[in-house]
Amino acid sequence: MSDRTGCRAPRAVLAPGLKVEHIGHHYGSGRRRGFALHDVSLQIPQGEVHCLLGPSGSGKSTVLRLIAGLERPHAGLVALGDRTLTSDVTFVPPERRSMGLMFQDVALFPHMTVAKNVAFGLKALDTSARDRRVAELLALVELSGHAEKFPHELSGGEQQRAALARALAAEPRAVLLDEAFSALDPSLRGEVRSSVLAILRAARIPVLMVTHDPDEAIAEADRIHVIEDGRITQSGTVGELYRAPATRFVAGFFGPVLRFSGHPEKGHLATPIGAIPIPVASDGRHGVDVILRTRDLTPVALDSSPWKATVLACRDLGDRCRVELAAQGNRLGDIHVPEQISHRVGGEIGLSFAPDALFVFPHPVALNDSRKAGISR
Ligand code: ADP
Repeated sequence: MSDRTGCRAPRAVLAPGLKVEHIGHHYGSGRRRGFALHDVSLQIPQGEVHCLLGPSGSGKSTVLRLIAGLERPHAGLVALGDRTLTSDVTFVPPERRSMGLMFQDVALFPHMTVAKNVAFGLKALDTSARDRRVAELLALVELSGHAEKFPHELSGGEQQRAALARALAAEPRAVLLDEAFSALDPSLRGEVRSSVLAILRAARIPVLMVTHDPDEAIAEADRIHVIEDGRITQSGTVGELYRAPATRFVAGFFGPVLRFSGHPEKGHLATPIGAIPIPVASDGRHGVDVILRTRDLTPVALDSSPWKATVLACRDLGDRCRVELAAQGNRLGDIHVPEQISHRVGGEIGLSFAPDALFVFPHPVALNDSRKAGISR
């Protein structure tokens, strides 16, 4: 688990948390067989927040529903601690899984006060124990002064915290969040998310947060599981994904990128910014895609680099300029140029980047002619 300073505690000392092994599932059958999940595995130790991150339609919510027991997978295992919840021979119904679920749609009961919403799952307790527990939970989510309000009297962030108090009332042994913060106003989102996740981390339970937003995963996750087209394509820390993205999708998480496609010749790919060296091992039979993050481009004097671009526009920011670049008619994006690197609108500027800033992905199938040696976004 991360202590948010980048230091990591040894994973081995953590008790087993939520385990998903070799889950397979599909919708429809025969010729009407539709979307399928293939061999999905992940493990979340106690007290860690993991993100399941993927584009819309990649299977994130399906994985969450299978873990929660809202659907039964065709293959695979789900276990929480030493308890098997789903296997070939076991299927524990959702209400007996000790899992808290939070969705984008907060779904508090509108006709009940905040206190009554939180108390809803505490029917087994007598009145005084229930009141005590509700007061503890509202204090935990910093809503003590809002107990007698109705949901419509709360802000979006307060509603989200009330929903968390309700989810925690049942003392879940894991929490699953499905795009739980997407509906919040962007100005509130980061703060509400961090405060909700801090409470869940303190509860020392495994948390799986589903999101399509890389920034959300980068900001919060101890570990990210990337899902694309029903398969986990990479699992790792933010640093691991940053340094060694396994797919084009992951390479694009960390801001704008340049993408070049084509057939390398003599170890180089011709691109609009100049010939880029391609490691021989990556020289795919059907060509390659090369991804270069705009943030990894360093502006240099024109005569000191083989790569260059045209300055389309320049905005003076004092000690540096924000410069808009283009090459062979393609807009490349903006970079910051310190004042000592001379440049002018309409002229050219040199570009440099470290060899490990290039991510090369061989093409599985032949490129069509229109994409050869071109730039794509
Ligand atoms: P995500 O959460 O990543 O957007 P989902 O898990 O919701 O993706 O859906 C993955 C794919 O499965 C989508 O193509 C979706 O249309 C399909 N799908 C989801 N639920 C069902 C269902 N009950 N029946 C048939 N297809 C479904």
